[in-house]
Amino acid sequence: MPNQLLLEKYARLAVKTGVNVQPGQIVVLRTTTEAVELSRAVAKEAYKAGAKRVYFIWTDEKVSRYGYDYAKTEDLAEFPEWNVAQYKYFVEQGACFISIVSPVPHALAGVDSSKMQTVVSTMTKAIQFFREHTMGNKTQWTIVAASNKAWAKELFPDLDEAVAEEKLWDAIFKATRVNHETDPVEVWKEHNANLARQNKILNDANFKSLHFTNSLGTDLVVELIQDHVWAGGAEHAGNGALFNPNIPTEESFTMPYKFGTQGKVVATKPLAYQGKIIKDFWLEFKDGRVVDFDAKYEKEALQSILDFDYNARSIGEIALIGHDSPISNMNILFLNTLYDENASCHMALGRAYPMNIKNGNDTPIAELEKKGYNNSLVHVDFMFGSADMQIVGKKQDGTEVIVFKNGNFAI
Ligand code: ZN
Ligand code: ZN
Repeated sequence: MPNQLLLEKYARLAVKTGVNVQPGQIVVLRTTTEAVELSRAVAKEAYKAGAKRVYFIWTDEKVSRYGYDYAKTEDLAEFPEWNVAQYKYFVEQGACFISIVSPVPHALAGVDSSKMQTVVSTMTKAIQFFREHTMGNKTQWTIVAASNKAWAKELFPDLDEAVAEEKLWDAIFKATRVNHETDPVEVWKEHNANLARQNKILNDANFKSLHFTNSLGTDLVVELIQDHVWAGGAEHAGNGALFNPNIPTEESFTMPYKFGTQGKVVATKPLAYQGKIIKDFWLEFKDGRVVDFDAKYEKEALQSILDFDYNARSIGEIALIGHDSPISNMNILFLNTLYDENASCHMALGRAYPMNIKNGNDTPIAELEKKGYNNSLVHVDFMFGSADMQIVGKKQDGTEVIVFKNGNFAI
């Protein structure tokens, strides 16, 4: 059981800072049965903040598993019109979206990858308009996490389930700056201002490319798209409301040029993907595409990401985070991207965020693609930062600047 006062503060943070619910706005809560308590707390705070209605979309890990085990692929893959209509309604009504993630490790271990691929791919295609709507920041959206027994036990195997669950809640509160002493909504205003300062330094530098190297074998040049924008922290939605897409967040991120990544990147943290944990992997890029890769564990799952669609082999995001960040310093491997990506430099295979190029949110995707924007149905982040990461930035005039030294910002 999490501390009730902290849980309320955390829920308020998701509502006020995460989506910044506007009076009379519909709130859609996409959540899991692992997070019933937090879901209720968020719904309460959303109504208190003036939400018109709070709608729930629930998932349950066990029920999903039963589907994969016993149902036919073609039946599972059907994404009915009424389900699409629901998302259309939310988009048309200008709803904002809160996702609560509470992963159950290994929940889908052993499930046939191709079956899962078909199901996920059908759903993703059916509601692609919804994904474009949120990723294009047309409305406010946010992701927060909730502790659960299975997840906590995986992270702290030596502890009792209940103690582990509590310990994971403590880590979540710490990472999200929720405590008894301060008002997290105020604390986040300051945090957002700090990230904005960091973004400004990177935007002013206007690098042509970044060269990453470390002792694990990463030797990678990432060319940035022309007119790229470094973002991170708070964003403006289409309706003008300021919101935080991720809680927590520590990153400054931008858009790579689709054809401009060269060399090898070695992952430094496992990647949890659809209930599987991909470990000890590397990717080799040529002209922006993955041409070779390997993984010691769950290579097949990595392969299924890369083969999701044609552009899943190119990257859509490059993010810088100092190794000396609050989440990194906790030294916990959360086995969840929302947390682990904020402990380490990372990149994403697949779709780019339009906001990471000037006027991107107001430009048709087809126009952005002509400039080297990567359009894909997937966006999968993986971590490759390390304590000895060096980054050298090359400016448009060819001069070089040390951006990272020994894993941390040097500019
Ligand atoms: Zn990121
Ligand atoms: Zn990402």
